[in-house]
Amino acid sequence: MSELSPMNIYQLLPKTNCKKCGEQTCMSFAFKLVSRERDLEECKPLYEDQKYERQRKELEELLKPLESATETGMIIHPERCVGCGNCVVACPVNVSEDPKGSAIGLGPKSDRVILKIIDGKVQSYNLETCRRFGKNRVLCNGCIVTCPTRAIEFV
Ligand code: SF4
Ligand code: SF4
Ligand code: SF4
Repeated sequence: MSELSPMNIYQLLPKTNCKKCGEQTCMSFAFKLVSRERDLEECKPLYEDQKYERQRKELEELLKPLESATETGMIIHPERCVGCGNCVVACPVNVSEDPKGSAIGLGPKSDRVILKIIDGKVQSYNLETCRRFGKNRVLCNGCIVTCPTRAIEFV
């Protein structure tokens, strides 16, 4: 299956920029689908025009993980984590809540951080403070891009 990315979603949308969903472009709609600000059903042509049926089914399949994910969409794969601590230092919430520990790589001392290494594996806490949580979420990806083993994913 394709990766859940705005570009892959865009490729399956009608690409007519008809604006019926309220967005100026299909690309903008694709971004908002990934950030869960919009629902696929809001693209009316996909449901009304038979010629888009195959694409609609593929989109429904591609977007399925979003329905079962946590509010932030974070999934940790402990078996891949090597405990390097990169994500702990990269997370902006860790750094602002715990400048003395997380920011200089000594390991968080505060209970208000999101990521900690426990027994050599990353664990998550306080996910409601993650930049990806809630209405004003942004597509923060500090923890993913700094991980050498793809142990953290967001869907
Ligand atoms: S309704 Fe669908 S086809 Fe029209 S602009 Fe929105 S995403 Fe594109
Ligand atoms: S997405 Fe950003 S705020 Fe959330 S855990 Fe990862 S680095 Fe921290
Ligand atoms: S999740 Fe990745 S970056 Fe974080 S400690 Fe594990 S291996 Fe390192």
